[in-house]
This record gives sequence, C-alpha cells and structure tokens, in this order.
Amino acid sequence: MSKAAIIGGGPAGLMAAEVLAQAGHDVMVFDHKPTPARKFLMAGRGGLNLTHSEPLENFLTRYGTAQDWLAPAINAFTPADLRAWCEGLGQETFVGSSGRVFPRAMKASPLLRAWMARLEGSGVTFRYNHDWTGWDKAGKLTFSNADAVTADVTLLALGGASWPKLGSDGGWTKALAQLGVTISPLRPANGGFIVNWSEVFRTKFAGQPLKPVLFTFKDRTLQGEAMITERGIEGGGIYALSSVLREEITAAGTAMLTLDLRPGITEDALADKLSTPARGKSFAEFMRKEAGLSPLATGLLREVNRNPGQLQPDALAQLIKRFPLPLQAAFPIDRAISSAGGIVRGEVDARFMLLKKPGVFVAGEMLDWEAPTGGYLLQATFATAVAAAKGMVEYLAKAPK
Ligand SMILES: Cc1cc2nc3c(=O)[nH]c(=O)nc-3n(C[C@H](O)[C@H](O)[C@H](O)COP(=O)(O)OP(=O)(O)OC[C@H]3O[C@@H](n4cnc5c(N)ncnc54)[C@H](O)[C@@H]3O)c2cc1C
Repeated sequence: MSKAAIIGGGPAGLMAAEVLAQAGHDVMVFDHKPTPARKFLMAGRGGLNLTHSEPLENFLTRYGTAQDWLAPAINAFTPADLRAWCEGLGQETFVGSSGRVFPRAMKASPLLRAWMARLEGSGVTFRYNHDWTGWDKAGKLTFSNADAVTADVTLLALGGASWPKLGSDGGWTKALAQLGVTISPLRPANGGFIVNWSEVFRTKFAGQPLKPVLFTFKDRTLQGEAMITERGIEGGGIYALSSVLREEITAAGTAMLTLDLRPGITEDALADKLSTPARGKSFAEFMRKEAGLSPLATGLLREVNRNPGQLQPDALAQLIKRFPLPLQAAFPIDRAISSAGGIVRGEVDARFMLLKKPGVFVAGEMLDWEAPTGGYLLQATFATAVAAAKGMVEYLAKAPK
C-alpha cells in the first residue's frame, strides 16, 4: 500500500485524505495544532456558508482572474456535489434567502465530528502537534518537533495566513520559497479597512451596524452590511469590494468608497424632503424624520462637515446619497476572513502538482486565488482538494513499485 502524507488538517487536507483513503491508500494527516480544522470550526460560527446555489457559470466568475484555473476542479466537484457530500455525513443543507448554502445545523461541529469518525473508520491516521518545515536531503518530510517521515506522495494543504492563531500562519512560504516556488505575497482578503474616525464618532458608534447602505467603488455598486469598528469599517458589503479596494490603496495610498446612506429614494426627492422647515427640531431629529437616517448615518455626516445642518437641501441630499469615505489601509491579515496570494498558477500542473517537486501536490487556500464570501472559499478549497487527491491517486498508479 502506498503511503500518502497530507500536511494540514483543514477542509482541503481532510477532503483529500478521504479521496485517497477511498482509493485504498495508507493516509496520514499531519497538523501542527492539537486538533484539526480549527478555521473550519470558526467558519461554522457564522453559520458555515458551504457554497452558493447560483448557476455554475455565474458562480465561476466569482474567482476573477483565477476562474479559468479553478473551473476544471469546480466543474468536477460542483456545489451540488458539495451539498451531497455534506448530506452524506448526515447534515442536511438548505439555501438561504441570498442563495447561500448552509448546513441546517448552521455550524461546523456536527459535520466535522461525523467526518472525522468516517475518516478514522476508513483507516486515515492523524498526527497532531507536528509542525512541518520542509524536506531533508533524503527527501523526507521534516518537522520542527518530530522525526522526519517518508511518503510516496504528499499534499500540502496549509491554508493562507488569516487568523493565524487557528493554524494557518503562512509559515510554509519559507520552505517553498527555498525550492524556488513563486508565491504571490499573502494579503488580506474579505477584511475590513482602517478609517480615521474622530474620537467622538468612534466612542459613540463603534460596534454599531450601518444599514441600509449601498457601497460604490468605481463602476461597482452593491448593497451589503457593514459594521463600524474602533479602527474602521468591516462586514459583508465591504468584503465584497475588498480586493479592488486593497489594490487601489496599494496603487494610490488610499481608496475613496462612496456610500449611499439613504437607498431607495432619488437625490432630488430627498432634497425635496429636506426642504421642509426644521421647526425647532434638532438636526438628528430632523434627519430621522425627514430623511429616515439613523443616528449613525447622521453621525457620519458630521465626520465630513462639522455643521451639516447649515447645508442647503441639495448639498445635504448629495452628501447623504454620495457620502465619501476615505479608506486608509486594509485591516491586518490576522483579522481577514481569507488570504489573497499564494502559490501561483504557473508552479503547478493541471492536477495541482508542484512542477518543481514532483509527487508533492497543493490545494486549498494556499493557492493564489481569491473570492468573496458567499461559500466560494470553501467550494474552491474542497474542489481543489478533490482534484489534487485524484492527481495523487493517478501519480501513485504510475509510480514504479
Ligand atoms: C472567521 C472566518 C469565517 C469564515 N467563514 C467562511 C464561510 O462561511 N464560508 C466559506 O466558504 N469560507 C469561510 N471562511 C474561509 C474558510 O474557512 C477557509 O477558506 C478554509 O478553511 C481554507 O481551507 P484550507 O484547508 O485551505 O486551509 P485551513 O483551513 O487554513 O487549514 C490549514 C491547516 O494547515 C495547518 N498548518 C498550517 N501550517 C502548518 C505547518 N507548518 N505544519 C503543520 N500544519 C500546518 C493548520 O493548522 C490548519 O489546520 C472563513 C474564515 C474565517 C477566518
């Protein structure tokens, strides 16, 4: 029986372990944490958005420039396959109102428990607290805190670098850079941005949700949620634009996001409403009554104009409908949901085997793709793992015995 080593016990590593075990191989999973899939469990705290129900041709566009690269893997392990796999583990799935797919339990722990039991039942073994560092001269896998291990085929499924305390800390980049593998720098994706709030605003509004709101950056407008934080702004609406905002900040030093703080009414109609005499009402009260603005949205107006009540109705309506929010920097990667960057496409073959290290495959978030939240991250993670594992099975079939 051939020995397959999987380094990284996140969703990519565990999915590959399953495919290899089903093909009859001896599979050992190594992870430097004391338990598997910590980030997957954390994703479960938000309901575990496994995938999305939109048509596959739309779905694939979410991967931007990586679409062509990932399409064969996702076409071979589709969102429907992922749902069937989840249900095969006793976890019914459902489509939420936004088209996102979740397990009915809205968490990862029952799914992971059933999955681990099935993996162990099929003979997969696990070695925790094993911190992989690379290869020795004899080609054995090395660990900073354990003996080197020989394997006939290896999968690296070490994740990106967001939320490093959950395990994926990007430390793997060192070992692969030594091999000469090109790695696009790991950068925050689906994260928030720093805004220079005034002390007054920060104290009053940090922790409050901003809704309803439309976000516009260049030619893209979308509706979404956002949360004001001590240091800036985060949330689904911001995450969806985070890659373009991040690139703009890299190129220009700052990115100007435009907020429509009063969607559903035209600027002219809003100006008309704001022409009503205030009749002794405070500005905040007037804004709430005539413009339907929350105290938070009114607070935002004061961030750019000390006395917005002095503005003419047209100018005030314009400020509300086209509120400029300068973003200074992306939040650090340790707060981001996922990472952009990773092993670039040119370094792997169609089955995700490293061209510079035959017999070593890579999958999941450590590859250089990014996608918005909505289930696209886990779908590509699982699909690339299935593709890599099938590649490993083929590789072993061809390897001299
Ligand atoms: C808060 C949060 C919520 C999320 N919610 C969702 C969601 O709802 N839907 C969605 O699609 N995605 C979500 N994601 C993203 C998703 O969890 C990841 O994309 C996914 O976990 C990536 O899987 P992976 O197997 O590639 O890497 P990881 O899950 O990061 O697993 C990598 C594994 O490798 C191990 N490892 C790393 N380095 C070493 C080493 N040197 N030696 C040994 N082991 C090592 C780590 O300990 C870890 O177990 C969320 C992420 C976060 C942080």
